[in-house]
Amino acid sequence: MSETKSEKQATVIPLPAPVLLPINGLDARFPVRRVYCVGRNYADHAIEMGHDPSREPPFFFQKNPNNLLSGGADFPYPPLSADVHHEVELVIALKSGGADIPADKALDCIYGYAVGIDFTRRDLQGEAKKAGRPWEIGKAFEHSAPVSALIPAARLGHPDKGAIWLDVNGKRAQQGDLEQMIWKVPEVIAELSKLFTLAPGDIIMTGTPAGVGPVKRGDRIASGVDGVGLLELSVI
Ligand code: MN
Repeated sequence: MSETKSEKQATVIPLPAPVLLPINGLDARFPVRRVYCVGRNYADHAIEMGHDPSREPPFFFQKNPNNLLSGGADFPYPPLSADVHHEVELVIALKSGGADIPADKALDCIYGYAVGIDFTRRDLQGEAKKAGRPWEIGKAFEHSAPVSALIPAARLGHPDKGAIWLDVNGKRAQQGDLEQMIWKVPEVIAELSKLFTLAPGDIIMTGTPAGVGPVKRGDRIASGVDGVGLLELSVI
């Protein structure tokens, strides 16, 4: 086979569009590689923060990069569910990675932060849990992960406290504080990197505080993390 090596490799179908997240104040975008999510990561309001000796190792699941919804786009209610829940979360975006990242080096991997919502088909997730099946049908559906524009850590620093909240139609539904996270951001990265080799472009949704609940078409959602950003959208 003698073919001239071209700049670009020919493909038999069109290349999938890269998933690019907007960055607050910059024209350049953040290209997404993988999307990881942390399971339950906020202690009950009654539990003292951060030093719960009975805490279990965190668990993880994934969404797909093209499940991300950015630019304030509205959230289309997904098919085959009658119980879609909001989960507001702090999102972290990695600029570097590796395996077995020590917690005291983990913050160096972070490009920036955003506010995200881990929309969940709770009814399908519940059935999957009951049957011991994977969670993807409850979690990794189209448009299931709206995110705000990223804020670079170079500008923001690394928030470890601050309100995280979500309103449905002007009424407060979720209210927590980043300092209630059972596994803090550096620990989340350290634990995840024991399981997977992390790399630039990976996104981690870090779990949600109490108050998750259902949404319906026509709902107006406003959510935020103090200092990080706001994420507003309608359910359509
Ligand atoms: Mn979640």
